[in-house]
Amino acid sequence: MSKFLLVVLDGLRPDMVGPDTTPNLVAFAAAGTRFLRARSVFPSETRVCSASVTTGCLPRRHGLVANRIPHPLDARRSVDTGQMNLLKAVEQDTGAPLLDAPTLARLLHGAGRDVAILSSGTTGQTYVLNPEADALGQLTLSVHGPEFCSARGRDLLARLSPPPAAPAERAVWLAEAYRTHILPEPPDLSILWLCEPDSSGHYQGLGSPAQLDALRAADAAFGRLVADWQAGPWRDALTIAVASDHGHATISGHLAIAPHLARSPAEGATLMPGSSCGLAWSNAGGETIAAAADWLTRQDWVGSVFATDGIDLPLGVLPSSAVLANHARAAQVVFTLRTSAARSERGLPGTTLYDGDLPRGGGTHGGLLGAELHTVLMLGGARIQRGLLAETPAGLCDLAPTVLTLLGLPGAEAMDGRILAEALHDGHEPEARPAAESWEAANGTYRQRLARTRLGRHIYLDEGFRG
Ligand SMILES: [Zn+2]
Repeated sequence: MSKFLLVVLDGLRPDMVGPDTTPNLVAFAAAGTRFLRARSVFPSETRVCSASVTTGCLPRRHGLVANRIPHPLDARRSVDTGQMNLLKAVEQDTGAPLLDAPTLARLLHGAGRDVAILSSGTTGQTYVLNPEADALGQLTLSVHGPEFCSARGRDLLARLSPPPAAPAERAVWLAEAYRTHILPEPPDLSILWLCEPDSSGHYQGLGSPAQLDALRAADAAFGRLVADWQAGPWRDALTIAVASDHGHATISGHLAIAPHLARSPAEGATLMPGSSCGLAWSNAGGETIAAAADWLTRQDWVGSVFATDGIDLPLGVLPSSAVLANHARAAQVVFTLRTSAARSERGLPGTTLYDGDLPRGGGTHGGLLGAELHTVLMLGGARIQRGLLAETPAGLCDLAPTVLTLLGLPGAEAMDGRILAEALHDGHEPEARPAAESWEAANGTYRQRLARTRLGRHIYLDEGFRG
């Protein structure tokens, strides 16, 4: 019976994949299919991406619309979706499930198939991948401790050495736990989510020696896993995908947003700062929202500006639907900070202003730079084309429908993503041709542009920037 393993290297930029840093990924790609135009979703934030991976749907459908969301019942406070306990509290407060679309874990459970999730991401990120792990009797293991695991995850955790404290070591520890305890008898679907090179990129510098060391260590752990897979009984039955959820831009400088909001039309809104930022109101009419969005287009530190669909949008502002992030739980105004396509001091293209605790030179993501939206996506295994460099557009939402198809299960058509059929031996190229789409809006000297690619009913975000 077919099985599937998804390995996510959180925050890995495609231009950081190479023979020096990731020889095992390079070898894996050469023996399989690599998608050269793989894309994240917007906001390019980890929990948003995790929800798209597990549901095969865009943020406008799964509803986990930002790393920090307005509380659905009271927008005067915001919720950090990185904390499992806060997500469970939101579910209790609203009486509704966290995600508006079914997860892979639920769909597989319905078909009598098993799922295991191992993650060194935040407790909230791990929970998003399968909020129903306990109810469905499935295994979820978080490196953050037994209270963040499902019952079956706790059983496994108790049999392992204690996880190390440093993120780079945790990622390796987790990959080893998978290789030694899950891979010998893998469930139908497993997801191994490694917090590197994201964590070291954020805190120790994007492209820094420390980040490259963390990446090399994660790649080496992946190499050991691949070697066992190739030598073991599951070589022909198990398909492996390697992906990143988003890329990274380099923080070029800090900008404290809150002082600017005082005495502006956005005063009174709840601010959710970051690289991608939200403004939310509990009760605001279209005029208030429009005035705040209009004011943002007049600030030189602002990048792209989006506002909720259905109001009279001011000049220069694009609707949230343009970035596929329109949802009832989204902040009414979403904007990015000013970016540049220039190279960082370490030579990596894409820099941005940032409001938060990360250092200058550190990596951040959430916005629409190509550096943030362009991701890694590879497939390998007996059913996958060897040595194919696929130029068709692909993205995070395509993983889930491809998983279902390879496992012989229905449900792919109900998802936003597409089956990556061109990578399969028995597959075919998409019938539709990729078509470039451009959205532009201007207000005086302010001008923003959003580039997307459409492939049939599927839409991929390529880049957004202030021109
Ligand atoms: Zn991430």
